[in-house]
Amino acid sequence: MSDAFTLGLGYEVVTCCKRDCLQSFAMTTAFKKARHADKRTFWCPNGHPQHFTSETIEERLQKNVAALQTRIGYRDAEISQLRNSRAGVERRLRATRGVVTRMRRKGETV
Ligand SMILES: [Zn+2]
Repeated sequence: MSDAFTLGLGYEVVTCCKRDCLQSFAMTTAFKKARHADKRTFWCPNGHPQHFTSETIEERLQKNVAALQTRIGYRDAEISQLRNSRAGVERRLRATRGVVTRMRRKGETV
């Protein structure tokens, strides 16, 4: 099933997917959109049953949004983990600085 062109009057031309038919025919934009959404069967003028298998732009965008939200979730978790790790390193650094300062005051070499 492929779109040949759009008539501009609320109709779109599609082509039958059966190889020995390939009949082009028009359907309303609303009908085509509904069949894309519900994936129900419709028939070409020669009676060949067919249905849209490809996802609509809305479905593709919804999948992209969901994938991006998942990626954002992973990044947020990674950022949180890095912040915790950084806080641990800063605590150890402060402790080491305290030890060095005490040793200097006592006159010990580091
Ligand atoms: Zn056909």
